Amino acid sequence: MFTIGCHLSASKGYLAMGRQAVDISANTFQFFTRNPRGGTAKAIDENDVNAFLEFCKATGIEKILAHAPYTLNLCSADEGIRTFAKNTMADDLKRMEYTPGNMYNFHPGSHVGQGLETGIKLITDALNEILWDDMTTTVLLETMAGKGSEVGSRFEELREIIDGVKLQNKMGVCLDTCHVYDAGYDIKENLEGVLEEFDRVIGIDRLCAIHINDTKNPFESHKDRHEKIGEGYLGLETFENVINNKTLRSLPFYLETPNEIDGYEKEIRLLRSKFMD
Ligand code: FE
Ligand code: FE
Ligand code: ZN
Repeated sequence: MFTIGCHLSASKGYLAMGRQAVDISANTFQFFTRNPRGGTAKAIDENDVNAFLEFCKATGIEKILAHAPYTLNLCSADEGIRTFAKNTMADDLKRMEYTPGNMYNFHPGSHVGQGLETGIKLITDALNEILWDDMTTTVLLETMAGKGSEVGSRFEELREIIDGVKLQNKMGVCLDTCHVYDAGYDIKENLEGVLEEFDRVIGIDRLCAIHINDTKNPFESHKDRHEKIGEGYLGLETFENVINNKTLRSLPFYLETPNEIDGYEKEIRLLRSKFMD
């Protein structure tokens, strides 16, 4: 089974996202838990959630991926910013329990000159405060491009974060193809080697989801600018290899390419046509 979807707007609720996904031949999707810049989340509408859960059963929508607002920073130098990030994530994770058993992805953060070690410690401390024993959501650290002082562009950094978390069984990783290439992992020329490295450093079992994006910038540029599939430096062949890779092919893939909904539909159809059953 090939599980693929794209980033959708959450403004009309869960059922609307489910319908839109099916409309564009997706069988999963990603969405922001609230305005990507933070702010308050819309109250959960239980009727909407229940209708959505039924819809998923009927249509075969697989695991969905919630994305935290990308402005949150668990390792800011400012305590107020850290607390805001922590409270927002804690609230998101409570809301996620209305749709149990799914995934919540976040950017580890930027250490803003405090150094990697301090950054990693602040991130793990925060996670240790907000995760709880019987939560059903898996929390994913996203692999980052290494822009500015971003934490998480090296697999070792993600491993260190996970090592510091007490409830490690709640933790996973989301690999972003644009970000890892920007960070200096050559998935274009040596996908197998990168996955071996991931396995050696983090453990391949932690890999739960793939953000599938081409990149506007060359290898190791640390820029984080997504491009449409096949139109960037990675190229279509790289994505054919990624989706058919024996380790990756069973994972859910999420497009975050610069597209409106019709562009996403085209990319989903293109990638489906390249998937070897
Ligand atoms: Fe992201
Ligand atoms: Fe991403
Ligand atoms: Zn990105």
